[in-house]
Amino acid sequence: MKKVFCVGELLIDFVAENQGNDLSKALHFTKKAGGAPANVACAISKLGGKGIFVGSVGNDPFGSFLLDTLKKEGVDISLTQTSSVFTTLAFVSLAEDGERDFVFSRGSDRELTYDPSLRKDFVGHMLHLGAATALLGGPLETAYSKYLFDALTKEMFISFDPNYRGDLWKDNEQQFIKKCMPFIEKSHLCKFSQEEALLLSGASNVDDACDTLHEVGTKIITVTLGKEGTLVSCNGMKQIVPSIPVKAIDTTGAGDAFIGCLLSQISHLDKYEQVFSDTSLLLAMVEKANKAGAITTTAYGAIPALPTKSQLES
Ligand code: ATP
Repeated sequence: MKKVFCVGELLIDFVAENQGNDLSKALHFTKKAGGAPANVACAISKLGGKGIFVGSVGNDPFGSFLLDTLKKEGVDISLTQTSSVFTTLAFVSLAEDGERDFVFSRGSDRELTYDPSLRKDFVGHMLHLGAATALLGGPLETAYSKYLFDALTKEMFISFDPNYRGDLWKDNEQQFIKKCMPFIEKSHLCKFSQEEALLLSGASNVDDACDTLHEVGTKIITVTLGKEGTLVSCNGMKQIVPSIPVKAIDTTGAGDAFIGCLLSQISHLDKYEQVFSDTSLLLAMVEKANKAGAITTTAYGAIPALPTKSQLES
């Protein structure tokens, strides 16, 4: 089984209780572990795969909480760095009008420093780049690009999820698009939401978006469509794999469960190239990943809701 190195942010989400108040009025917050690439590492480990998280937390109680959370889920945190800068915090509430109110206090996640010695451990394994904060600058952005380069030279399987956060890229969308392009160009697999596929391609529908983004470079595209399922595009084949009907109560982390489950399945293949040539194999994998996404929506929070291997198989 291959290891999956997941690079990016791990942070605290402070979610306001009694939603319906903007942050100025919110009084109580629930502390949750957050960060899409860390969620993906958890999803892989909970499914019995080898998720490794490469990121940076602060040398403070929030950092300890985050490390404990990942460790409990079986994630390898030996490559997670501890920084003297405080752990990154995000405060979020839904205001009365349904709009998200968001305050982001960026700390240690940007401090991840590139480790050239990792290159030798990359051989024969997989790299997942989840870009929510990684393209916002700092040492993390540099490390990100260097790990992409190392992964290419070591012929790793590379996956990319842009994790577009409108709150973080307000008035700066063009820069976000530009920064994503080299990753779309070099990755074997890209996971987009519908919003991301349209934004990054400039197309008006997801079919055209896939065509444009394949031209940039990636071989496999998955566009997650919530309860409608996932559009898969590879080698001229485009198909929607329907989702599994569930009573969804919280969709947080569904996309991370989806990509984590897909990567975990690819990590079990002898040769990852099989997934490019065998359409029915790819579709079966996406069906299973949809199931992981659906299960995640049936409980609150991201990491606690990610399915284990037995939950997925039952
Ligand atoms: P994220 O918020 O984590 O970035 P996303 O927008 O990328 O998520 P979604 O489309 O919400 O991802 O969900 C990922 C997958 O989970 C979907 O492709 C689908 O298979 C499954 N899923 C999501 N919502 C539902 C739902 N309400 N019912 C059934 N399955 C769902």
